[in-house]
Amino acid sequence: MNAWSATVLTLFPEMFPGPLGISLLGKALEKNLWSLDVRDIRQHGLGKHRTVDDTPAGGGPGMVMRADVAAAAIDAVERQGRPLIYLSPRGTPLTQGRTRALSEGPGAVLFCGRFEGLDQRVIEARQIEEISIGDFVLAGGEIAAMALIEAAVRLLPGVLGDAASIEEESFSSGLLEYPHYTRPQSFEGRTIPEVLNNGNHKEIARWRRAQAEHLTSERRPDLWANRQKGQKP
Ligand code: SAH
Repeated sequence: MNAWSATVLTLFPEMFPGPLGISLLGKALEKNLWSLDVRDIRQHGLGKHRTVDDTPAGGGPGMVMRADVAAAAIDAVERQGRPLIYLSPRGTPLTQGRTRALSEGPGAVLFCGRFEGLDQRVIEARQIEEISIGDFVLAGGEIAAMALIEAAVRLLPGVLGDAASIEEESFSSGLLEYPHYTRPQSFEGRTIPEVLNNGNHKEIARWRRAQAEHLTSERRPDLWANRQKGQKP
């Protein structure tokens, strides 16, 4: 089987691998546990200046990425069964569930927008899925693509040392994670909760569970409500 592979379409290929080449993900990249293929959209730009954008139809500020240029860049990629995704603030918010599904597939082809975004017609014509990484606006899709790749790749077998840590962490069970502590035993007068020192693993698990539930209901009533409804995270 081929390793999980990401193809990124961007106007700034020099941004990659950037943070994706560091630490555990970087080592996994070296070991070919996943692969990264970065394509410069400008190679499909028009004319001497390799133009990729134009003024918005109907007027208004900024520039829009041209449908024909974007389509040429997209069509030059071998999809190999991978979903085609446009990182966009208007997209479906990325969740751990979607991230896990992506990590279990063959990879992803990610189109990074710039300027005001991409001409609507290419989104429709190529049936591009739109994914947002949150309700805020970035200057471009590159950091969003990196966030998606990092979240998916860390779930691949062999990338993180300890698979159990993935099972327990925030969102995996629809709950935020319980708080962590380590040495020293006392920090500025604050001690580690007593239960964590007593070696009773059942009791520790019960305490952590209660903490996770409390945190989730306090901080994320939305997640908590989904959980009460029995919805999968
Ligand atoms: N005018 C657009 C914003 C464009 S931001 C709007 O109001 O919807 C430029 C590019 O950054 C977008 O094309 C997209 O690729 C990327 N981007 C910005 N915010 C993002 C987010 N929250 N999630 C994913 N991509 C985002």
